[in-house]
This record gives sequence, structure tokens and C-alpha cells, in this order.
Amino acid sequence: MSRKENNEEEQFSFKCPSCDKGVITINTIDYDLPDGDKMLIINFTCDQCNYRKNDVIPMTTRMEPGIMTLKIEDESDLKSKIYRSPTGKLEIPELELIVEPGPRADFYYTNVQGILFRFEEAVLIYKNNLEKNDSEFDEVEEILNDLQKAIEGELKFTLKITDSGGGSYIIPQNASHYTFEKLNNIETDKD
Ligand SMILES: [Zn+2]
Repeated sequence: MSRKENNEEEQFSFKCPSCDKGVITINTIDYDLPDGDKMLIINFTCDQCNYRKNDVIPMTTRMEPGIMTLKIEDESDLKSKIYRSPTGKLEIPELELIVEPGPRADFYYTNVQGILFRFEEAVLIYKNNLEKNDSEFDEVEEILNDLQKAIEGELKFTLKITDSGGGSYIIPQNASHYTFEKLNNIETDKD
């Protein structure tokens, strides 16, 4: 889905691109950001299969390229909203977790806990494919333990999004735990 401005209220529906049978329902949610800006979240769901997609249209916010850092220090921070655009790289260094940007990366809009659940799911799949005597096995177990603690709010960690294209957003529960550092030149950190 491309971003577009549309000020008119328009009712439209289209066929599901995934199953080609269902009809896509479109829901929109207005979000008021703590700094007074607004954004519109558009949610597409198929009534036949489990196709889902979210898109975000910034209403007033200039979503600039930059590095967003959120410190998770208590349980309430886990409820902070996270939106990662396809140009955003998401990292939790303490848990050795990285989501690389890319054209096939899902847009996603969730909260910190939602991200931890996704990570947990991915690590579990990875673990299930390892042999019991694999040297990585213990390390993976350890990551799962830490993830569990993080989900329960018993682990302090840092969530960082580096977005060279702009568009990612963090809505912190506690503004003093959040920092934004502007990226001036459009420079991708490929290493
Ligand atoms: Zn469908």
C-alpha cells in the first residue's frame, strides 16, 4: 500500500489480494500522539482468509529519518506503541534481536510486548529446528528465558529503531524514557 492523502470520506471495498475470494474490510483509527500530532492507522482485513495489513498515514507529523531509542524500565513501558516502516531497522541489543529493514519486511504497528511475542515465536521456531546437541541450543534457551522475563516486565532493555527513510514512530508511555536523534543525510548503514 502506498501512502496517499485522501481528505474525502470514501466508501470502497476490494477483493482480497491473497485468496481472491474474500472482501477486504477497511477500518481506520485516529491516534493522537503525545506531542499533539495525529496519525491515521488503516487496517485491512479479509473476511475469508487471514490476510491482514496495516498502513499508517501521518496527519501532521513529519516522520523524519532518525534513531529512536526507548528504554524499557518498567511494565508500563511495554505498552508503548511502536510503528516500524519498511526502512526501519529494529533492535533490542540486550536480547540480541534485530529486524532488518527491507522491501519484504512487514509494516507493523504494535506495542513493545507485541514485538517481544513475535520474537519469541521466531526464536521458538528456530530452536525447534536445532538438534538437542547443537552448540547453539543453550544460548537459544537463554535468549528465551530473557525474552520471558522481558515480556513479564522483569528485564530492563533498550528498543532502538534506526530509520534511514523516515516513517517509523514510537509513542512512549513514559516520555522521559524516549529519545529521538535526527539523521541528517540519507545514508543507509549497510555493513
Ligand atoms: Zn482473503
